[in-house]
Amino acid sequence: MKAFIDVDDTLVLYKGNYIHPYGMIKGEPFEPNYKLIEKLKKFDGEIIVWSGGGKEYAREVARMVLLPENIRCMVASKFEDFKDIEPGDIVVDDQKEYYTGMKESGVHIFGPFDEWQI
Ligand SMILES: [Mg+2]
Repeated sequence: MKAFIDVDDTLVLYKGNYIHPYGMIKGEPFEPNYKLIEKLKKFDGEIIVWSGGGKEYAREVARMVLLPENIRCMVASKFEDFKDIEPGDIVVDDQKEYYTGMKESGVHIFGPFDEWQI
């Protein structure tokens, strides 16, 4: 089982109720999503942190919030690079409306504040 975790407004949270693409690159004040991070530290499967802001950006944020070094980081465009997602996998993203179609094929889709236990 794999967990695909978005960076901006998901793994890190910003002030204001709107989306913050590449917020950390732009230097926007943020705080780690501690609740999600605690869940990920207990997650028994592969964690993939991805961002449209790039693989290195995803890596930098993953490091900063103290996720294990061996997790996979990738750059992703929401529409092209998600071929790896299989039924049973988890996706956590603040823009979960993008994944509606996957839900029907058994992928678990959650928002950054949703409770989940798999
Ligand atoms: Mg996001």
